[in-house]
Amino acid sequence: MTVTVRFAPSPTGLIHIGNLRTALFNWLYAKRRGGNFVLRFDDTDPERSREEYIAAIRDDLAWTGIVPDIEVRQSERASEHDAAADRLREMDRLYPAYETAGELERKRKLQLARRQPPVYDRAALSLSADERATLEVDGRQPHWRFLLDQEAVGWDDLVRGSQEIDAASLSDPVLVRADGSYLYTLPSVVDDIALGVTHVIRGEDHVANTAVQIELFQALGGEVPAFGHHNLLTTISGEGLSKRSGALSLQSLRERGLEPMAVACLAVLIGTSHPVAPHHDLDALQDVVDLGDVSRAPAKFDPDDLPALNAKLLHDTAYGDVRDRLAEAGVGGGDAFWTTVRQNLTTFPEITDWWAVVSGEADPDVTLDDDDRCFVARAAELLPADLDATSWGAWTGALKAETDRKGKALFMPLRLALTGRTHGPDLAPLLAIMGRERMLRRLTKAASA
Ligand code: GLU
Repeated sequence: MTVTVRFAPSPTGLIHIGNLRTALFNWLYAKRRGGNFVLRFDDTDPERSREEYIAAIRDDLAWTGIVPDIEVRQSERASEHDAAADRLREMDRLYPAYETAGELERKRKLQLARRQPPVYDRAALSLSADERATLEVDGRQPHWRFLLDQEAVGWDDLVRGSQEIDAASLSDPVLVRADGSYLYTLPSVVDDIALGVTHVIRGEDHVANTAVQIELFQALGGEVPAFGHHNLLTTISGEGLSKRSGALSLQSLRERGLEPMAVACLAVLIGTSHPVAPHHDLDALQDVVDLGDVSRAPAKFDPDDLPALNAKLLHDTAYGDVRDRLAEAGVGGGDAFWTTVRQNLTTFPEITDWWAVVSGEADPDVTLDDDDRCFVARAAELLPADLDATSWGAWTGALKAETDRKGKALFMPLRLALTGRTHGPDLAPLLAIMGRERMLRRLTKAASA
């Protein structure tokens, strides 16, 4: 059996880090088992579905390294959905009901007042053909409900273990609206069958749909897939994420210069038995985490943890992995520059600032006190003729011996004069890149300011 999973967003907004959690659990599950990943756009709502969101979701997934094996749109499969609905009608599993929303609400209130479960009473089933005809002559269009077998439905959830829902406690779900459009349930099952989906992995907000969907798979003669419902990402205060969580959309995280793998690691590892640690690619992440490691409690996360995780990831990112990005950003200095400066980065784009500091033509403006000015002037005189990795040690060693300065007093005026900053990367490996001429110019400028 080839594992086939699907990620099925509705293209009605941008996807956020919580949606990425679902996409990644699917991706990692399938790829670990040599399986396929289907990207299915649940775009049956023509009013709210937008082409721009389809493109954005595709791009966001590609940014994180997810490249679907197959992409489908539900809107292109309407005839299959119609055929399935007709089959259900023929089997008497799909029946017309005429209650208005107001009537249903009144029934519900009455049931609650009588302390009965608010389950649809199937009144529509006992309408005669004449009664139905009269309602339709009056202008009532039916919506269509799926007749549930009122039995217990069980499945062995890949995350939550053995689950059982008594279908008698559920209302027969509406599959087709009065205007003929489908709610999500039927197209989802029809497409899962057609695409050979073997594992449905999604958020636990869908647990309640699963019993109905299992009955639908069976009614339509499809193979019932395995199900796994993972916990949902919530903010620290316990709030869920929604399409309105703009700041946590993948697009805005990307615009903040965060690394896709930092976002991916947080999205997946939070709320599992594994520490939230950086991993450099999805293959590495795939070896770490599987659905059985997901905990049952909500996955509370703090978006403020992202920069620290991003920094950790950059701190051991090899030069070979960023060579092209550095070239694109106009940053030179090769391996030595990257390996020295990566320790000071929170986000990758900051590398261009450091490149400007080390190799730019603008010399910093600094104001030193008299002693430091003399010291820096002497440092200019003692600067070795040829700069290499050992020059810093030799240079500061000579200055230390001559001036008796040590520690901060020795290093800070040099750092300030050379970079204009009080903090920054180790200077020793950067001297050769900065070059003697630029250094002399900056030391002289600081000495005379
Ligand atoms: N389009 C549905 C959603 O976004 C898919 C749910 C599912 O995975 O079955 O919630």
